[in-house]
Amino acid sequence: MLHDAIFLFICVSKPAGFRPAAGFRKEFFIMSTTVSDYFGSLVFDDRVMRAKLPSSVYDSLKKTIDEGAALDTHVANAVAAAMRDWAVEHGATHFTHWFQPLTGVTAEKHDSFISPSPDGGVIMEFSGKELIQGEPDASSFPSGGLRATFEARGYTAWDPTSYAFIKGHTLCIPTAFCSYGGEALDKKTPLLRSMQALNKQALRVLKLFGNEDVKCVRPCVGPEQEYFLIDKDMYEKRKDLVFCGRTLFGAKPPKGQELDDHYFGVIKPRVEAYMEDLNQELWKLGILAKTEHNEVAPAQHELAPIFSVANIATDHNQLTMEIMQKVASRHGLVCLLAEKPFAGVNGSGKHNNWSLATDTGLNLFKPGDTPYENAQFLLFLCAAIQSVDNYQDLLRLSVATAGNDHRLGANEAPPAVISIFLGDELTAVLDAIENDAPYSGTEKTVLKLGVHVLPKFTRDTTDRNRTSPFAFTGNKFEFRMVGSSDSIACANIMLNASMAETLKEFADKLEGVTDFESALHDLIKEAIKAHKRIIFNGNGYDDAWIKEATEKRGLLNLRTTPDALATILEKKNVDMLTSLKVFSEAEIRSRYEICLENYCKTVNIEGLTMVDMARKEILPAVESYLADLSGTVAAKSAAVPGLACKYEKDLITKLSALVDEIDAATTALDSTLVRLKAVPDVTDAAYVIRDVVLQKMAELRVVCDEAETYTAAKYWPFPTYGDLLFGVR
Ligand code: ADP
Ligand code: MG
Repeated sequence: MLHDAIFLFICVSKPAGFRPAAGFRKEFFIMSTTVSDYFGSLVFDDRVMRAKLPSSVYDSLKKTIDEGAALDTHVANAVAAAMRDWAVEHGATHFTHWFQPLTGVTAEKHDSFISPSPDGGVIMEFSGKELIQGEPDASSFPSGGLRATFEARGYTAWDPTSYAFIKGHTLCIPTAFCSYGGEALDKKTPLLRSMQALNKQALRVLKLFGNEDVKCVRPCVGPEQEYFLIDKDMYEKRKDLVFCGRTLFGAKPPKGQELDDHYFGVIKPRVEAYMEDLNQELWKLGILAKTEHNEVAPAQHELAPIFSVANIATDHNQLTMEIMQKVASRHGLVCLLAEKPFAGVNGSGKHNNWSLATDTGLNLFKPGDTPYENAQFLLFLCAAIQSVDNYQDLLRLSVATAGNDHRLGANEAPPAVISIFLGDELTAVLDAIENDAPYSGTEKTVLKLGVHVLPKFTRDTTDRNRTSPFAFTGNKFEFRMVGSSDSIACANIMLNASMAETLKEFADKLEGVTDFESALHDLIKEAIKAHKRIIFNGNGYDDAWIKEATEKRGLLNLRTTPDALATILEKKNVDMLTSLKVFSEAEIRSRYEICLENYCKTVNIEGLTMVDMARKEILPAVESYLADLSGTVAAKSAAVPGLACKYEKDLITKLSALVDEIDAATTALDSTLVRLKAVPDVTDAAYVIRDVVLQKMAELRVVCDEAETYTAAKYWPFPTYGDLLFGVR
């Protein structure tokens, strides 16, 4: 089982765009001005391996990476020794197995390389065993009941497909993390399993089209990361930001995003300095940071890397989020990754651009130049359509978190209903195939999918549609529902698994048929007929669409995390995920529990923070303003007897009423949270949160925000939305 986790992935996972053998430069400390000189300087990548390892060891390791062959001990020892020498040369003193437990963040426990030598000194040691396997005490990581406390041991197992790298003074070895019994306790293991399943089924389909030379199909992912940058001093004055990463109070400022002047706007000097520094850090780690720009909301920005193989992209995105926050701190800034840090302006997501690539360089979602390629493209396109339709629920739940609920299904894009944007041309092609009708595009012919009469549609036929949760963008699908703080692992696990399932069904139907062309034609036609309800090219923000989607088309509208998560236990989902060996049934149940617990804990912390801020900061602040106002009334009346003091008295009346309302709303929220503690079952607790706690939080916020608008600025106890959103210059 453990070895499954270690050598489970059989394909090479070299990030796209890598230029090997550029000549590794040891003297990375002397920072050159050209990026190509220091790009990847902190990564034990193929260039370093080739330079540092004896050729037999290098070949053997490559076989492990490329083909999943087991690594024998002497090879592991040799790799470990080379890694240690290289890491020590670069100033590392420690190593760690770097993994992605179900907390949503990465974990690391540092061990130094030192080992005592007989002369009283130390030598730096690192063995093959230490490289391949670690045994952290796993009892404090979430396991959702998978691990009894007496089985505290967990194992980390080297993922040789993701390069080791140096962070600070520590050599980080990407690993998978599993329990004593071999169940996955992390996000990497099921991701690798889903890639393996997808590879197997995609190869079966490709063989039918005569692609004998293709050895491997890998999902490629480019995650566009949105974030907010705010001033650190201001951040520290707000407990909601410090404890929850998002604001829980805040009246609307006079200016928000309505002028659309921030999107792609000129980047402010402080932000530019941050981005430059960030890029350098990422490039040193071999992360292909490519595009940066201002986003729609004030103080909102985006960073997109060049796409790479899904598990590398996932590792890199985790690292990117960590480094974004670290670098921000150096610049007196804080990088907010929460999905909805501010009400009233756009939240942040992560657009997961996803495609399938062969080791021969073919993108399976790219319409080709020849009819055969087009037929193959159409089959993969239809497979994606069928997958998304059949597993809407899994895709929705893969992005379900308390934070993301404020984006999906709230008054902002994308909606919680999943649909696919295909664009007019491809939709017309599919229509024509479905109806055996002439395709009125470039070729006027009755479409039978016999390859010689295929429509010759052009490449990149899509327009843009920013409202779609799942948009075809020419040669890839862009899944836009992922939350900005979330790992992209879960979304990609579900994408890969559902696609593997559909391709398996297609291969089962097509293998061994005598007339391939008509079987293919029938299959594509059937798939279009059965699943075209998921295709929607219109405005996804429109209420009319939600009505049509749910009432006419029968699509799911899973608005909240508890609604979405419940669907993972449905038989069709459990059957699919277990039959492809992406998850065991026990792992599915444990993940369900962990995600629900996480939802409950997150909202509970937010509720408690609101109570705390209302009682200890907001109420006292308004009271002290009221006291001063009353003092003014007294002073003015003493100075000019009989003066009405209308302004002050009206304000005192207004704010006094609000103080009482705030007090009542705080008490109501507080007692709901106390009652919540007594709910033993996590599913029940999640529903109490969804139906009661969030409502009480919203009620408290409304009265506090109103009080803010009436209270003189100097009394308000923490920075306002205006300060936060426009404070960085
Ligand atoms: P936009 O979506 O804004 O048009 P791009 O087309 O540049 O931006 O791509 C956005 C992201 O999609 C980038 O991370 C890019 O590397 C990634 N991407 C481009 N092509 C592919 C592909 N074939 N597979 C996966 N991701 C891709
Ligand atoms: Mg995009």
